[in-house]
Amino acid sequence: MQLDRYVHTLGLHLRRRFGERVHKLPLHAGFTCPNRDGTIGRGGCHFCHVGAFSEENDSPLADQLLSGGERIQRARLYLAYFQSYTNTYAELDRLRAMYEQALSSRNVVGLCVGTRPDCVPDAVLDLLAGYRQNGAEVWLELGLQSAFDETLRRVNRGHGFSEFADTLRRANARDVPVCAHLIVGLPGETAEQSLVTVERTLATGVRGLKLHPLMIVRGSHLAKAYARNAVALPSFQDYVTVAADIVRLTPAPVVFHRVAASARAPSLVAPEWCHTAQTANNAIAHNLARNGAQGALTDEPFLPLTEN
Ligand code: SF4
Repeated sequence: MQLDRYVHTLGLHLRRRFGERVHKLPLHAGFTCPNRDGTIGRGGCHFCHVGAFSEENDSPLADQLLSGGERIQRARLYLAYFQSYTNTYAELDRLRAMYEQALSSRNVVGLCVGTRPDCVPDAVLDLLAGYRQNGAEVWLELGLQSAFDETLRRVNRGHGFSEFADTLRRANARDVPVCAHLIVGLPGETAEQSLVTVERTLATGVRGLKLHPLMIVRGSHLAKAYARNAVALPSFQDYVTVAADIVRLTPAPVVFHRVAASARAPSLVAPEWCHTAQTANNAIAHNLARNGAQGALTDEPFLPLTEN
């Protein structure tokens, strides 16, 4: 079932803007992470093992942009997605050089920059705002995961909700769109807390959300705890129910970059249903078709698509 009949997806947002399909091209730009190198913390977030989500790619950025564009046949236009680690964690000149190398590549129409909420100085926001003013599609993707400081401490995030709210305020003041990454099912959290997290996150003025279920990936701190039976994961049905409720709570103008996620074998330890996101996407779409689409619980409901 087609998700964007019920959800304002990133694909739909981009098709409306560019008149055709636009693909996100994941890049590994050689950044590190302050929650791993000791600047903020060591060991990283407990759910994180970066290699599980993105191929570690040592080839130069230009080659990644070229080969990625050739590999992906499904679209002609791309967003350069700085995905691995903390993609604002470097001197401004280095960031500028990388972002502009990507933006000047053939068929690249914008940037998505993934980072931590406590690692976005004003100068970086000014840089991104400038690209947006020049017509590029720009998204700052901030890992928040939960709006509960207690949970963030439990998974060793190294920041609280207030850092996220502060960065949102500064990004909004510059008209830089922010997409918040949220995890459903973090240790010790209930489904109700996931809904509260979304309400608090929306109240900051985010323009995008990216949801995924808690996944256990090889090499992460949680993988060890899972092996000791010390981690409970949401069932497939529980995740679908919470994700659909979150979508209904979210006003139609907010863009969902993702409502489910997957991890590659052999990195994924559990849950087994996360080998693909398609099954969860379909089940969420069915739930939304039955019980109301995005924004059904708000004053700004999503209007069904008439285009394709
Ligand atoms: S999730 Fe992001 S902030 Fe956390 S350890 Fe991994 S790269 Fe660092």
